[in-house]
Amino acid sequence: MSEQHTFQAETQQLLNILIHSLYTEKEIFLRELISNASDALNRLQFEMLTNDDVVDPQADLEIHIELDEEAKTLTVSDTGIGMNRDEIIAGLGTIAKSGAKAFIEAMADKPDDAAAIIGKFGVGFYSAFMVAKQVDVISRSFRKDDEAIKWSATGGTNYALETVEKDLRGTEVVIHLKDDEEEFTRGFRIKDIIRRHSDYVAFPIFVGEDEEPTNKQQAIWRRAPSEVDDEEYDSFYKMLTMDFTGARHHIHVRADVPMQFYALLFLPGSGQQNMFSPRTEAGLKLYARKVLIEEYNRELLPEYLSFVQGVVDSEDLPLSVTRESIQATRVMASLKKTLTRRVLSELKRMAKNDRDKYLRIFQEFGAYLKQGLVIESEDRSDLEPLMFYQTTHDDDPSQFHTLDEYVERMSANQDDIYYVVADDYASGARSPHLDAFRQRGIEVLYFTHPVDAMLPMGLVDFKGHKLVSVDSAELDLAAVGEAAEAESTVKDALEADSFGALLERVKAILGGRVSDVREGKTLVGSPARLVSEDGSANRYMFRINRLLDQDYELPVKALELNPRHPLMHNLSGMIAAGGADELIDAVAEQVFETALLQDGIHPDPSSMADRLTLLMQAATGSAGADLDFAGAKTVISEPAADETPQIDLGDLDIEDAEGSTPL
Ligand code: ADP
Repeated sequence: MSEQHTFQAETQQLLNILIHSLYTEKEIFLRELISNASDALNRLQFEMLTNDDVVDPQADLEIHIELDEEAKTLTVSDTGIGMNRDEIIAGLGTIAKSGAKAFIEAMADKPDDAAAIIGKFGVGFYSAFMVAKQVDVISRSFRKDDEAIKWSATGGTNYALETVEKDLRGTEVVIHLKDDEEEFTRGFRIKDIIRRHSDYVAFPIFVGEDEEPTNKQQAIWRRAPSEVDDEEYDSFYKMLTMDFTGARHHIHVRADVPMQFYALLFLPGSGQQNMFSPRTEAGLKLYARKVLIEEYNRELLPEYLSFVQGVVDSEDLPLSVTRESIQATRVMASLKKTLTRRVLSELKRMAKNDRDKYLRIFQEFGAYLKQGLVIESEDRSDLEPLMFYQTTHDDDPSQFHTLDEYVERMSANQDDIYYVVADDYASGARSPHLDAFRQRGIEVLYFTHPVDAMLPMGLVDFKGHKLVSVDSAELDLAAVGEAAEAESTVKDALEADSFGALLERVKAILGGRVSDVREGKTLVGSPARLVSEDGSANRYMFRINRLLDQDYELPVKALELNPRHPLMHNLSGMIAAGGADELIDAVAEQVFETALLQDGIHPDPSSMADRLTLLMQAATGSAGADLDFAGAKTVISEPAADETPQIDLGDLDIEDAEGSTPL
């Protein structure tokens, strides 16, 4: 007796799209069914490592494809793990997989692009409905107590379930082909599809009465690198990741001593693309002696290399262990070490010999590597040569430079390496902190990627040269280089007395929002800048917290004023003449907030609009006293005492932190 069940709404939606799609490469349905069969065999194999009390323990682990031209059916059967009643309802009645979900979401945005989108997603089992008018799934679980079950659907809103007899363990998927899809009952056509899409499947795939399997089943990673061509690497990568943009680079390792293992790793072309592939989790596929132990293993590479995709196959891992206990083995620890070294040395080689190719990888995954520099101090010397920066050397945002190149260009008098932290290249380039450096021709690195704000924690020095922020309070450039002739437009410095009065006045206005107000000796064209008296390496972490939408507190800095700037001359004149207090206050506030803005740390720039309007009004006529500056009060408040924001680097999610700012 069969009973009717209703598909989950999303499944109905997906089926509807697939049935009516004009996607031309419908043959991929076979790849999806074979991949499901192969997964089921993998899972059975893994189960049997610790449990041989299963149905048909001796059955060969194989995939069979039967074709019936007369009945117009194609049947894919496996001797895998099988499904019981509950599992078939969960597996084939609902959509749990993110791949299919992401597919539906993408379709909602572009309903007319079904054909283009289907190929990019692993739509799985349901893709059979592109060619089928009816699909029957008959399955028997490996568990001895479970009954066999038949699932049947025609693509409508319902599917039928029925208890049946099935001798052999595993699953049989019967595709009743639509009238115009007869080609899929032809042996040569099916074998061609298998060779193109499923050649690497580890279990033999037999078509019809053939005695030889159609697929090579060659684990590509076990072959000698010299015998694998680029096309094979490429198609293996695509099959593994469903990332059809292809990989940027592959690393193929075969080692015998001290451990015997094979690894085939890929550096993806784009981090973005992978978000839509069904392989959404990070981690490598781990095999022990050809048995798939884990689909996503994250212990084989450090977190900062989690963008690397691929397969690792070890001959030395113990087979009859649980996934948990495998992690603790010595073999795992030394595999991790070897693989990490290998990936890093490959990246270093590329950075040196093929800069353009490396920079494309760095563009995509640089944030991960920078996180590594901060967190994994033992890998520091390997990671340093992988860091590239825009600098004031050429002031060309398309050019990237290494720390080594910076050091080579340093003058004999320069000891430190200087960097400016900014939100992006353009605001970095306009930073008032650079006045003094430009005058002396001293090169400055741009730290403009959101993650760069963490770098000072890991990159304390490089080849004996300290890394120093351009906004450090104690900066003394006198010894490093002669300042060029001061610009002629710049006025003489204010008299000590009047400048002192100005400093006092501004200090009184800004109160606890600044730690001090004093003369800026390095300013040229800018009226003011904020300098940091906190020399600690994590003083930029608030930028990361801000980016991650976490609570943060604005650091309290010292305000430096430029005694030669016309604005300071005017302000000083107003103070001496006993001018409008309101206007003086407003200008002081605005000087401070402009400096915050220039450093990219103003918490609420649009709050300045009212004050700016009043200042323009003053500049164009009003005396100031009659303007209501009180109504345009600042939103920046003094910090609460004794509250150092806590930073937990472990929680940092680098994918979030990538933000929208380009490197
Ligand atoms: P995916 O394979 O991406 O999980 P599918 O829609 O292809 O998504 O399959 C849904 C689920 O149905 C699978 O996760 C699996 O649990 C189950 N399934 C599909 N085919 C088989 C099979 N041949 N043997 C056992 N289980 C299967």
